[in-house]
Amino acid sequence: MGDVVLKPDREQTLARAALDLMSECGVVPTPDNFELFYAHAAAENSAAARAIAEMLAQKTPFTPQSLQDLRAGAGVSRAVDHVGESMNTVIAAVMGRLNDVGRDAGQYSNTLSAASGELDAEQSPADLRKLVKSLLAATREMENRTANLEKELEKSSDQVSELRSKLDNVRKETLTDPLTGIANRKSFDNALAIAEEQTLLSGEPVSLLLCDIDNFKKFNDTWGHQTGDQVLRLVASCLSENVKGRDIAARYGGEEFGVVLRGTALKDAIHVAEQIRRAVEARRLIKKSTGDILGTITISIGVAQFTADEKAEATVRRADACLYGAKQSGRNLVISENDPRMALLSTDAA
Ligand code: GH3
Ligand code: MG
Ligand code: MG
Repeated sequence: MGDVVLKPDREQTLARAALDLMSECGVVPTPDNFELFYAHAAAENSAAARAIAEMLAQKTPFTPQSLQDLRAGAGVSRAVDHVGESMNTVIAAVMGRLNDVGRDAGQYSNTLSAASGELDAEQSPADLRKLVKSLLAATREMENRTANLEKELEKSSDQVSELRSKLDNVRKETLTDPLTGIANRKSFDNALAIAEEQTLLSGEPVSLLLCDIDNFKKFNDTWGHQTGDQVLRLVASCLSENVKGRDIAARYGGEEFGVVLRGTALKDAIHVAEQIRRAVEARRLIKKSTGDILGTITISIGVAQFTADEKAEATVRRADACLYGAKQSGRNLVISENDPRMALLSTDAA
């Protein structure tokens, strides 16, 4: 058997272009990343391809986080495309049936007009009987068709409802962190934007907590990444259990969490943060597979309140400075922007 000769066809050229670009941008050539860059090389009109083109134009670096976001976006747009296609099929089927019915109704109406024409003429009783019989048959047929159509439309309406709920699920997925099941970075950013607007428009107090697990790298190094992931779930559940209503708790980075508290001024926000800090500290960690006692885990929290005249990023920066202050002051602490320890730290820094 002869050697297989590969033609330098379009696919190969595109694949090479994708790989070259990935290496130029320092992107690890995993299959997932390759798929993204291949779509870009093929100038596909997909959200991911457009996002990559935009990032290249802006010279935005490709970080593990931005690549993950691109992959998540691509997955979602595929899912949305799929639901969209199914929706189109259902709609086309309904339109087709409505056309058929229009035609049937037209025929029925022709039958009726013809009959009325015949009624004008002199008719023998036998002819009349025949005419009535044929009218009855046409009417019955029309009734059947209408009943069938009703059934079919009911089925289509069920299909549309099912597709709508699928679309809702896809939408929820785009806003959920898959590891912990709480809100993700995208919904956190949405919540910040809403908070910024609310503070400006209604003067409603809104506060922000930024939480970071203490010495988590050491925990991962000691017990492994998977056990570390369990800790992330545990912290997420402590957050969810301590916020309510319109508040939103999100995982916005690796081991970093944010909470947006609506209708809450700084003093009450500090109280919520303390509750969360204590809830995490109170959990005893035991490795299920071995029964090993892993001890406890703690978190540090920075707290700031939105002010009406600033962008959300400014509030985030202040909360982040407080979080840094909590780390500096020994960890397992809640520090807010009006905490005297912050003044000490900024004096130190000056
Ligand atoms: P500090 O108290 O100053 O916050 O120390 P730290 O060790 O928590 O902080 P550092 O930023 O040095 O390390 C963060 C660690 O979080 C690195 C990584 O091991 C861990 N991490 C980040 N994301 C994940 C994740 O998704 N799963 C797991 N298991 N660990 C993660
Ligand atoms: Mg961190
Ligand atoms: Mg940490």
